[in-house]
Amino acid sequence: MRTLRATAILTAIVLLTVVACTRVPITGRQQLSLIPSSELNALSFQQYTQFLSENQLSTNAAQSARVEKVGRDIQQAVERFYAEQGQSAALEGYAWEFHLVDDKEVNAWCLPGGKVVVYTGLLPITQDAVGLAVVMGHEIAHAVANHGGERMSQSMLTELGGMALQQALAQKSQETQQIFMTAFGIGSQVGVLLPYSRVQESEADHLGLVFMAMAGYDPSQAPAFWERMAAQNQGGAPPEFLSTHPSDETRLRKIRELIPEAMKYYRKR
Ligand SMILES: [Zn+2]
Repeated sequence: MRTLRATAILTAIVLLTVVACTRVPITGRQQLSLIPSSELNALSFQQYTQFLSENQLSTNAAQSARVEKVGRDIQQAVERFYAEQGQSAALEGYAWEFHLVDDKEVNAWCLPGGKVVVYTGLLPITQDAVGLAVVMGHEIAHAVANHGGERMSQSMLTELGGMALQQALAQKSQETQQIFMTAFGIGSQVGVLLPYSRVQESEADHLGLVFMAMAGYDPSQAPAFWERMAAQNQGGAPPEFLSTHPSDETRLRKIRELIPEAMKYYRKR
């Protein structure tokens, strides 16, 4: 009897894992993925619209155009790569947007479905298109690697349990909304994303380097950006891309180690 029950539980776990796990491209890491991307994107688009209605876009046409250009280049590179891997379905439902927001905060993020925001406060540190490509590559990597969905899946499991999940999603209940808000840290402080896990941060650095290279931005220049970033002594909450990082030195070392791999993808424009 006990064995039967154990077998049943084990089978359930295996089934859930098979159904609910996806693989991150390039790194091949398996991740928990319980939220259909259509649901995730719908919630994301709603929040993004709200964010834009409450914040001022930059009036600097040249800077805004540069953000848009670097973003589109990375988007196209990602789409090309996913197509080559036969994974285009993973990007279905994306509605890419790239906006420069007038805000002195040093920050940038990308919500699920490709909604990217860069803050003007970041521009003195990015300095040029390559610097922008480092940050935007990193943020876009979080989105396409479904890090938010993974984090949301984890908190859903914890807070609702597997049984309630389907129900919650089906009813688009308040709880689902709430978990999304918590997972992305939006709500009281719109646009301030909660820290991703350390594994996810390293993965975003890795994928980001590859994506910027594919888009034609020299990945060997990435450490220079991170050095400028480290030199910037920011008061208050750190921006998303610095949030849960190990020391700057460890991060820089890891990034340098990844450059030869990223260079293989580098296509000069
Ligand atoms: Zn990050």
